[in-house]
Amino acid sequence: MRACGCLLLVPIALGCTMKDPTQSDATAEDRERMVREQITARGVRDPRVLAALSRVPRHELVPEAVRAHAYEDRPLPIGFDQTISQPYVVAYMTEQLQLSGDERVLEIGTGSGYQAAVLAELAREVFSIEIVAPLGERARADLARLGYRNVQVRVGDGYRGWPEQAPFDAIIVTAAPGHVPQPLIDQLAVGGRLVVPVGGVYQELLLLSRDADGIHEERLIDVRFVPMRGEAERLE
Ligand code: SAH
Repeated sequence: MRACGCLLLVPIALGCTMKDPTQSDATAEDRERMVREQITARGVRDPRVLAALSRVPRHELVPEAVRAHAYEDRPLPIGFDQTISQPYVVAYMTEQLQLSGDERVLEIGTGSGYQAAVLAELAREVFSIEIVAPLGERARADLARLGYRNVQVRVGDGYRGWPEQAPFDAIIVTAAPGHVPQPLIDQLAVGGRLVVPVGGVYQELLLLSRDADGIHEERLIDVRFVPMRGEAERLE
């Protein structure tokens, strides 16, 4: 009770907003507007993705200084020269993964943990790797505080994926390498889908899918992500 700041006499239905911050706080309205004006309006249709975006408290995953802007149509700084993606980009990339609830998903670039939370709403298990230790640690703590128990965050270079947990039904890369890391392709299950922005300052979002015949590649939209650090840079 104390952690929630609730008075003992407050009826249970009104209590502990921290336990389910999506239910009773005013930001639910901001999220509804965000989904309507930024996401649905631009053509994202998967009802599960829209529901996840309506639920995840984005304002709880960004630094306090930018909290007031959490539901605006833009990326935001999260410290260490990194950014949380614009909500539309999160929705679009998530929709491309076609998650139905049973998948094991790998994310490269945990950042704020927002994309990981969206994935956690839509899949069975999420594994996320962040190269900047304080960001990874902050995201791990925030995701735990918000009650996401099906996300594991590892601090390290995501270029080589997470072989101990492979294969994955879906892989999402949210920092841009100059080429698709081969270890990530290798860790994609048959029937799996990988979305990754590839390029320099501006990038093309690629969708790689694996079926019984092998790997198929499709070009999606133009995007702008921060560069992938570590081994990806050395191998350019
Ligand atoms: N998905 C994040 C936004 C990602 S910003 C969110 O929802 O907030 C890109 C992140 O990728 C940054 O935090 C950056 O530090 C991280 N990153 C860059 N190169 C990486 C690498 N090689 N392995 C893992 N993370 C990396």
